[in-house]
Amino acid sequence: MAEPLTNWAGNIAYSAKELHRPHSLDALRTLVAQSDRVRVLGSGHSFNEIADPGSEGVLLSLTALPPSVEVDSAARTVRVAGGVRYAELARAVHERGFALHNMASLPHISVAGSVATGTHGSGNANGSLASAVREVELVLADGSTRTIGRGDTGFDGAVTSLGALGVVTALTLDLEPDFEVAQQVFGQLPLAELDFETVSASAYSVSLFTDWRQSGFVQAWVKRRTDQPWGGFPWAAPATEAMHPVPGMPAVNCTQQFGVPGPWHERLPHFRPEFTPSSGAELQSEYLLPRPYAVDALRALDGMREVIAPVLQICEVRTVAADPQWLSPAYGRDTVAFHFTWVEDTAAVLPVVRRVEEALAPFDPRPHWGKVFTVSPAVLRERYPRIGEFRGLAEELDPAGTFRNAFVSEVLGPV
Ligand SMILES: Cc1cc2nc3c(=O)[nH]c(=O)nc-3n(C[C@H](O)[C@H](O)[C@H](O)COP(=O)(O)OP(=O)(O)OC[C@H]3O[C@@H](n4cnc5c(N)ncnc54)[C@H](O)[C@@H]3O)c2cc1C
Repeated sequence: MAEPLTNWAGNIAYSAKELHRPHSLDALRTLVAQSDRVRVLGSGHSFNEIADPGSEGVLLSLTALPPSVEVDSAARTVRVAGGVRYAELARAVHERGFALHNMASLPHISVAGSVATGTHGSGNANGSLASAVREVELVLADGSTRTIGRGDTGFDGAVTSLGALGVVTALTLDLEPDFEVAQQVFGQLPLAELDFETVSASAYSVSLFTDWRQSGFVQAWVKRRTDQPWGGFPWAAPATEAMHPVPGMPAVNCTQQFGVPGPWHERLPHFRPEFTPSSGAELQSEYLLPRPYAVDALRALDGMREVIAPVLQICEVRTVAADPQWLSPAYGRDTVAFHFTWVEDTAAVLPVVRRVEEALAPFDPRPHWGKVFTVSPAVLRERYPRIGEFRGLAEELDPAGTFRNAFVSEVLGPV
């Protein structure tokens, strides 16, 4: 590559020897079959080396392939090409009168890259974005194609796959009828009075934000479906001006607030597609643990506020419903997710990341695959009871390890 290609935040420079953007499926299949080491780059929003093939490897971008989005109204599904981002997918689905069950905080991320890392939004009853996937179309290392659908052997390893099985050229997702969401931001919510179960269950999607400069939350983002009953949010006062979750950032980047109803895809993300969510001067980490531990884990973090706050921009607490996918951070357990947007100083942030991991360790946390973490591979393997089955699937579909990189080899162990 003529100049280094970096991830969105700029903290990772991919070391690949070549970047390819094939224009057809046939060209992609030929390229993969001729390469010893391949990784696909989605929209590059991960904060670690998960997408990097290494200096002898090839990075593949799917952005030159047709960005097809095919809605099947009768089946209530959508088939989306591997390079498409949520913003384009959501618009096309909405135009046809349908909806996705949930979205992440930003719509700029690719669908295939998001589900590969277990990306999620919020809501006690909402599974991760990968839980909507019903079929995965892959190009395998020899250039052949394989489709794996819900109910097929290995399907529970094929979606949140860390990109380790092959090139995902298309995904088919479940749809539901279009719905509207009203989003409202509320103010101070002290930790001492928090009934987490009731608060997180109070709307379709609830996100709580704190900068840990005080004991409790400074903002609650409450997204309610207008077709479902809502009992209000009696624990905090409504914000009187539009808010950005990160102090000092412009609220114009954010989706409509003040309880104004609108289409699901213009309210479920925090950020608008036409703006970048923030300057990118940040690192992110996130830990997902069983929801019943939420209050104890919050107390543990509260006890180390003076360690966290100096390198923190904002911490977001969300919930995710359990799913059956082997490498999903929400595998088998209703989950609470503790997200940290740090300052962009890796040297200052990493020691704090380690301290947070130590404080959360008693609660069996699984780090987000696409963010910064230091948890050892041995501990990771303990926290994913089905990781052996995933490894078997990877060895079956990719026996030569073409889609392995250093990140995946650390997690799974050597071939
Ligand atoms: C500002 C910001 C906000 C975020 N908000 C959230 C949030 O609300 N919730 C959350 O859970 N996460 C969030 N994230 C994290 C983000 O969703 C994940 O890092 C996600 O993986 C990004 O998708 P991507 O397409 O950029 O993936 P990339 O970083 O490009 O790739 C991730 C992985 O997917 C693989 N991959 C990508 N496309 C393919 C393909 N077609 N075939 C095979 N493998 C593929 C890559 O090889 C890599 O292993 C956020 C990140 C940022 C920067």
